[in-house]
Amino acid sequence: MSQTEERRPSNFIRQLIDKDLAAGKNNGKVATRFPPEPNGYLHIGHAKSIVLNFGIAQDYQGTCNLRFDDTNPHKENVEFVESIQKDVKWLGYEWSGKVYFASDYFEMLYQYGVELIKNGKAYVCDQTAEEIREYRGTLKEPGRASPFRERSVEENLSLFQKMRNGEYADGQKVLRAKIDMASPNINLRDPTLYRIRHGVIHHQTGEAWCIYPMYDYTHPISDALEGITHSLCTLEFEDHRPLYDWVLDNISIDCHPQQIEFSRLNLEYTVMSKRKLTELVDQGFVEGWDDPRMPTIAGLRRRGFTPAAIRDFCDRIGITKSDNLVEMGVLEDCIRTDLNDNAPRRMAVLQPLKVVITNYPGEQVEELESANHPQNEAMGVRKLFFSREIYIDRSDFEEIPPKKYKRLVPAGVVRLRNSYVIQCDEIIKDNNGEIIELHCSYDPDTLGKNPEGVKVKGVIHWVSAQHAIQAEVRLYDRLFSHPNPDGAKEGKDYKDYLNPDSLRTLTHCYLEASLGDAGPGEQFQFEREGYFCLDEAHISGDKPVFNRTVTLRDTWARMEQQGG
Ligand code: ATP
Ligand code: MG
Repeated sequence: MSQTEERRPSNFIRQLIDKDLAAGKNNGKVATRFPPEPNGYLHIGHAKSIVLNFGIAQDYQGTCNLRFDDTNPHKENVEFVESIQKDVKWLGYEWSGKVYFASDYFEMLYQYGVELIKNGKAYVCDQTAEEIREYRGTLKEPGRASPFRERSVEENLSLFQKMRNGEYADGQKVLRAKIDMASPNINLRDPTLYRIRHGVIHHQTGEAWCIYPMYDYTHPISDALEGITHSLCTLEFEDHRPLYDWVLDNISIDCHPQQIEFSRLNLEYTVMSKRKLTELVDQGFVEGWDDPRMPTIAGLRRRGFTPAAIRDFCDRIGITKSDNLVEMGVLEDCIRTDLNDNAPRRMAVLQPLKVVITNYPGEQVEELESANHPQNEAMGVRKLFFSREIYIDRSDFEEIPPKKYKRLVPAGVVRLRNSYVIQCDEIIKDNNGEIIELHCSYDPDTLGKNPEGVKVKGVIHWVSAQHAIQAEVRLYDRLFSHPNPDGAKEGKDYKDYLNPDSLRTLTHCYLEASLGDAGPGEQFQFEREGYFCLDEAHISGDKPVFNRTVTLRDTWARMEQQGG
């Protein structure tokens, strides 16, 4: 069913499934589902759930359904329905059969409501939302019965039908389960099963319904109707499990999936609540749901993350029952590892300083060949152009160098990566004393070898001025400056911790010519700078935009080992 080839590591849920299979439960079947609510884009926390659910189906030759939990039409829409499907596929998974919607079951859910009423297990209640809350009691105090709790079956049936017919206003009536107002579990104190919502056009059912079932009622029934065996959800639903079981135990349905909870992913320096992500988008703090600083799958994709790196991340963090805050470094390390192996190397000068090689003939152009990857020959070579005028990065020249500085200095020598050794002869400054150009000379005997008796310590990257393409480069940093913006101090809002330097745009960068052929989303290592990808969506004026995915680590050490 699924295209990824890796087998995922074990965890307590897989161990439970192993036991069930050994005991012959569910006729040896494993069926999971991923049930997003289409009220936002998927984020890295959802990826954890996706890799868990689809990964189990894949490794146990089972099935995994994609089911939209679309019972709250007010905040849902088709854009989200579509983006979620795209992102699940992009992560490397295919759902079994068609796309399911909880709304496909609205009629059946209604009929099960009728069944509950007939069996004296549900009633129509006229209390206001506030009264319901008040009567519910607290953790210390039991609840009190609604005055409508003892309505007759006939009256309840008629009222429920009228609710459906649209005879009442929003909030005027609800259908409630009749369970136990004194239960120590507040979720069992006659929870609401249905509420009235007029004036919303549901993205799937249009205006067919004005009553909508609650999540806690819809979810178990949808699971059972689809023959789900293991219903995996996050820990906050642990207290809802008795209600999940109650619903299935009190209707005539012959399937009873097992709900198992695991801890949510929380990641440092970001937020994961859809309410907050929506706010960041709607209030313009980011460019959109796919802004490369967002923890969304769409954002990570635009940032240059690969599906394999995200799956690897999900494996590394594992599945447990304890809540924690995962370091951003773990996610960054996953993409670095992937791109280190797979991204072709390129040269890109982000903050250009012109260098004229005065002893290089003005008309001459040399074509040099360079490996796309230092360790992987199979990745081939690309052509580099060398000419009299080149750009190097401003930070690779210091007029008054600090100690141990190994790059270019007045009268010093440096190797141009993949090319010659040059010496700095003259510094050209403007009227303000700003360095605007260097005049250097090259040693024609140093292509691929060091000059006699000279040890050249530094290696810097460069591009040929006449061949380079211009580009805009966006350097992204963490969206928040606090590791846990959600846990912000009292009186502070998570938005108070937005990092004002989360995006730095460099508008005048020069990239080696071969990058002119890059396709949208294609990833590269810009040597000595980091990993970058061509933005999927944007060009700035007539320039392509490259996004920095992640910085390099140990770059300099690696360069030295390779000896230029
Ligand atoms: P929110 O409360 O912010 O709206 P949600 O959990 O309700 O988020 P859903 O769209 O309902 O979002 O989630 C779909 C599935 O993804 C659920 O099974 C949910 O448990 C899981 N999920 C959502 N967030 C995380 C997370 N941070 N870590 C792991 N699983 C998650
Ligand atoms: Mg939800």
